Amino acid sequence: MIDHTHDRAATSWVASANGHADFPLQNLPHGVFSRPGEAPRGGVAIGDKILDLAAVLAAGLLDGAAEAAAAPSLNGFLALGAGGRTALRHRLFAVLASAAPAAVQARAAACLVDAAECDLHVPATIGDYTDFFAGIHHAMNGGKLLRPDNPLMANYKYVPVAYHGRASSIRPSGTPVRRPNGQRKRPEEAAPSFGPCRNLDYEMEFGIWIGGGNALGEPVPIGQASAQIAGFCLLNDWSARDIQSWEYQPLGPFLAKSFQTSISPWIVTAEALAPFRIAQPPRPDGDPAPLPHLFDAADQAAGALDIAVEVHILTPLMRAAGLPPHRLSHANTSDLYWTVAQMLAHHTSNGCNLAPGDLFGSGTISAVAEGGWGSLQELTLAGRRELALPNGETRMFLADGDEITFRGRAARDGFATIGFGPCRGTVFSAP
Ligand code: CA
Repeated sequence: MIDHTHDRAATSWVASANGHADFPLQNLPHGVFSRPGEAPRGGVAIGDKILDLAAVLAAGLLDGAAEAAAAPSLNGFLALGAGGRTALRHRLFAVLASAAPAAVQARAAACLVDAAECDLHVPATIGDYTDFFAGIHHAMNGGKLLRPDNPLMANYKYVPVAYHGRASSIRPSGTPVRRPNGQRKRPEEAAPSFGPCRNLDYEMEFGIWIGGGNALGEPVPIGQASAQIAGFCLLNDWSARDIQSWEYQPLGPFLAKSFQTSISPWIVTAEALAPFRIAQPPRPDGDPAPLPHLFDAADQAAGALDIAVEVHILTPLMRAAGLPPHRLSHANTSDLYWTVAQMLAHHTSNGCNLAPGDLFGSGTISAVAEGGWGSLQELTLAGRRELALPNGETRMFLADGDEITFRGRAARDGFATIGFGPCRGTVFSAP
């Protein structure tokens, strides 16, 4: 899967792409953008520009296969499969590389827009959204608070645990997040009350865009599951902890999660991430092997991803003082106990059908060490100790005006570093 489009030495005639932290020539993520007053349409991020694919098609620089990527919703692009995506990637690379003929560069340059002028949208119509729980250190941290002697449930190492989330409230990075109202009950209170969430939190997750999908009743075998995954993003599963702890038994999260989920709006393709595939870390001694329908040797050998992820906070006081955001944690997608192929194989193992544009969340990604814990629930031990910020402020949970930003970056010796662009949201007060 690694080819000339991953060559670190390749440069673009779009000057801002060269050395760009997220979007060098080797990334070429797809998204949906609009300029003020214009209709949303598909584009590709390159440096601090967006290549307007409808304009590129009109200029005759791409053929009909690119039409799905120029659309205002990228479900058709996601359905292309690895072959179609790779062919388009090769063509885009040829248009944007420094080696492109001068006439091609001139025609394509007229199809670039400044990303700073554009709004970015949720890039596909998301039919269904599923949130997994594959971050084992997050599961351990949460479990320890409830069951110190037995933090993981008996199913955890057999089942990629998940719940059905809410697709309608998924929003792109930058969309403000309204603190939800809900039923809350402190342990010492006899009855719940309805009002603003008191314990608002974030969850640092990895988003997985489904490509081909499967027919109802036809499971995707583990060996074919990876081919069904089209791309990736960052995902913030905003969580109302007090509402969650009151409502979740016995059926799991509901209103504590469904008020909003934020995603980074660029789809970083499976092809762009090919150099950053790694072996799934071996299970500790004593852990059970995955059941046969979740085990594939090739998936174990190269089905995990090496992507560094970070959480940053900017409070209103920090913003007013001109301070930079403060990094709360850093972890890696290799901290997940299940590969994305195992998640997909499990999801379809009962015959449940997935469709292009469905979205998975990985579950909160936490490292073993405290500096890598991916939620305030973990960092404050569920509100039992304050988190100190460098400017002297403290937090148990998020305050109105707090901005949370996730960043993700894939780096490997010999390859260009690529990133996801931010997944950001600022909390505002409950209605
Ligand atoms: Ca979650």
